[in-house]
Amino acid sequence: MATYAEMKEMFDEIRADFRYDHELNGCLNCGICTATCPSAQFYDYSPREIVQLLWTENVEQIYDAMQEKIWACAQCMTCAARCPFKNSPGGLVMIMREVSIRHGMQSAKDVLRPFGRVMLKLITTGNQLSPDMIQPDHFPDWGPNIQKVEGDLRILRKAIPVRTLQTVETAWEVSLKTSVEMYTIWEMTGVLKSLETMDENLFDVIEDFIDEKREDYEDWLESQER
Ligand code: SF4
Ligand code: SF4
Repeated sequence: MATYAEMKEMFDEIRADFRYDHELNGCLNCGICTATCPSAQFYDYSPREIVQLLWTENVEQIYDAMQEKIWACAQCMTCAARCPFKNSPGGLVMIMREVSIRHGMQSAKDVLRPFGRVMLKLITTGNQLSPDMIQPDHFPDWGPNIQKVEGDLRILRKAIPVRTLQTVETAWEVSLKTSVEMYTIWEMTGVLKSLETMDENLFDVIEDFIDEKREDYEDWLESQER
């Protein structure tokens, strides 16, 4: 359990985010956001409650909400389109999630662990997800509908009439230069640092991979100068 000072530090970090004043302009407590929120229909979750906690600066309960509730938001932004105060509860949730990741909260680790393979794929190839990576055990939150997309990408692609789209290789290919540029962006924007906080083993694997790719790129550049 965090001390009050640690909870306060996290709240101050949320409030200091450059998006915060844009996403929170006051709150009537009208509940329109919760009435239209899809996640509120299925989980013990209410965007009105999140906004009220932030608006009243309830440091302890904000920390409490970061333990579980903030991970129920689907980031659909219906709430932002409907709030009479032009608040964005979904945007505030995103800030809270980012702070919880930076602080290595267990709730963030638990939620993000199943996405380790997706991260590995995304960072090492530049592509996010392919159907042959979608396995029911890794995405329990998708429910039974996962059966509709689960499968071998190569087989699924056979159904695409255009010949060039039938191969996995070229469809998912990213140039070395683009990959190296992406690594720099992720480094500069703190993505890799967040990854290290969340999963040190995965970070080590990805860091080795990035080093190798950077060396390959340097070699390629040298070969062009000869
Ligand atoms: S819709 Fe806006 S004003 Fe109403 S409860 Fe939600 S955040 Fe507050
Ligand atoms: S963005 Fe999150 S809080 Fe807002 S309506 Fe969608 S699920 Fe609900």
